[in-house]
Order: sequence, then structure tokens, then C-alpha cells
Amino acid sequence: MSPKEGGALARKRYSSKQTASSPTSAKQEEEMKNHQTLIRNISSADIKNKRKKKKKQNKAKPKRYGLMSYWELPEYMKDNEFILNYYRADWPLAEAFFSVFRWHNETLNVWTHLIGFVLFLGLTMANLLEVPQVADLLAFFSRSTPIRAVTNVSHNFTSDMEFASSVASAEMGVTYWPFYVFLAGSMFCLLSSTICHLFSCHSHPLNLMLLRIDYAGITTMIITSFFPPIYYIFQCDSRWQFIYLGGITVMGIFTIVTLLSPKLSSSEFRTFRALLFASMGLFGIIPAIHASVVNWGNPKRNLTLLYEAAMAFFYLTGTGFYVTRIPERWRPGWFDLAGHSHQIFHVLVVLGALAHYGAILVMLDWRNSFGCDSN
Ligand SMILES: [Zn+2]
Repeated sequence: MSPKEGGALARKRYSSKQTASSPTSAKQEEEMKNHQTLIRNISSADIKNKRKKKKKQNKAKPKRYGLMSYWELPEYMKDNEFILNYYRADWPLAEAFFSVFRWHNETLNVWTHLIGFVLFLGLTMANLLEVPQVADLLAFFSRSTPIRAVTNVSHNFTSDMEFASSVASAEMGVTYWPFYVFLAGSMFCLLSSTICHLFSCHSHPLNLMLLRIDYAGITTMIITSFFPPIYYIFQCDSRWQFIYLGGITVMGIFTIVTLLSPKLSSSEFRTFRALLFASMGLFGIIPAIHASVVNWGNPKRNLTLLYEAAMAFFYLTGTGFYVTRIPERWRPGWFDLAGHSHQIFHVLVVLGALAHYGAILVMLDWRNSFGCDSN
């Protein structure tokens, strides 16, 4: 038998065996089918149950809002085309609030000024608690407080007479309210900026309102920064106090009113806004030159000028970053989360305010020892 014939015979035998046992296998097949359908039914019911459970869980959990790209943003949120991703838009207030603990392109903008705010709050508390009449804090802003360092003889007095006269005049008291006006102005700016960066993704009307408050905060910080230096340096000549503080207050009110226009909050007016803020700050050059001439022989002059020069450097460099949008314009998308211009600007603003705080401490120390000779 050839292998071909053998194969054919075997196939024949196999098929006859199949036909012979066909009733049993049909039954088995049917049973198998029933079993399979049962399994299928059970598993599909199981999946349905699982889906239902998931739906319920989803309903119980708040929806987690996703981040989007620059091109998906509503028009009012399109501010910086060099930041490409990680945007929040049209988020509910609660979701926006808790996004302070999530990574998006505003996280570091929020934290830089939130930390700055806490820092200035701490400085304010530390200064308030150091004042001898803590119990009398309510009357604090309305009157002068006695001197802490009247007996501080660290300064070089040319004669006993000069020392006696300075102590006598210093005993009249140093007014602290201009110092606290500056601290309050800085805290207002830092807090309003934090709130603006956290919640401006909520809706267009809220975005516009918060931007205006943010600009008003920046203006307030600039105006209030002028109060301590002008007040303490020209303490003995109230005419100049009035001229300089009046001048900067009028400029500040003009700036706030101008920036109330919604059009000026848009990105195309970024440079205009920066120029307005910078011109208010640069107005300080006039009283600074005046003060340097008047206090030429003052040993504290150079230290104060050094602090104020550091402040000017931090503020102007910060404004430079704000306007040019460096470094993100060089590599769009690279600095979305960390390192973009607005974050650098925020850090420089806090450093500028700290440098100014240092300068004011020097002035206060000086005023604590020297009053006005005419007193
Ligand atoms: Zn900001």
C-alpha cells in the first residue's frame, strides 16, 4: 500500500467513527454551547455591574479638570503665545482654589507671591511685637511712639551738645505709620497678585476684575514704597513731604484709573503698563537726588543708597523680563511650568521690596537717633 492509499483508508475509518458516535457528540456540543452562553451572560452582567459601580464612583468623586494647550484656550485667556501648554480654563472656583497644589503653568506664579506675602506678614508681625507699647496697637497709626534706641550711642557725635540736642529731638518720637503703610501696601500687592494668578482661569468677568485688582495692587505697592523714605528723610521739612508724597499719590491714582479700562489689560498693552509702573518708580530719582544732597554728610547715606540701588536694579530687571518675555520667547514650550519670565519677574519684585525694607530700617535707625534740630 502506497502511503497515499493508506492515508485515504485512515480518513475513511475516521469519518465512519464520527458518523457512528454523532448523537452523543451533538448532545455534548449543545451542552458546551449552553455552558458558554451561561459564562458569557455572567461575564457581561459582571461588566455591566462594574460599569454601574464606576459611574456611581465618578458621580461621588468631583470631576478632575484637565489642562489644555494655548490653541484650545478661550480668547480672554490667550496672553502669552510662548507658553504652549498646561493651561487651566473655565474652571470652577473650588477646582481653581485646590489647583494651588497641582502642577500647571501658574503654580509657581502663585507660590512666588504667596511666599512673598507670608514673608512680609512675618516682618510686619515681628516689627509690631517689638514695639514697646504692644498693648496700645490700636492707637498705633494715629500717634508717634517713643524711641527704642534713644540711649544708643553708637553714632559719632562731634560734641556733647550735638548728642544732647539729638536725643532731645528724638525723644519727640519717631512716627511709625509710614513704615506700616509700606508693609501694608506690599502685602496687598503680593496677596492680590496671588489671588489673581490662582482664580483668573475661572471666567472672563472674574479674569478682568482680578487683573484690575492686580494692577491696583502693583500701583499701591509703588505709592506706599515712597511713604517711609520721603517721610523720614524730609521729616524736618514738611513742604517737601507734601510735594513728593502728593505727586506720587496723584500719579498712582491716575495709573489706577487708566488701567481700569479693560482694553489696557490685554497683552498688546503689556509694554504700556510696564512703562506706567516704571515711570512711577523712576519718579523716585528726583527725591533721591534731593535727599542725597541734603544729607551729604550723613554716615548712613551710602548704605541707604546701596539698598535703594539694589531695589531699583531688581525692579527694573523684573520689568525687563515682564516686557521681553525672556526666556520663553527663545524656546516656546520649554518654560511652560518653570522658569518663564513672569515667575522671574515675581521673584525680582519680592527681592526689590526686601531691599527697600532694608533701606527703610537704616532710615528708621537714623531717625531713632536724630530728630529735627529745629525741634
Ligand atoms: Zn503676576
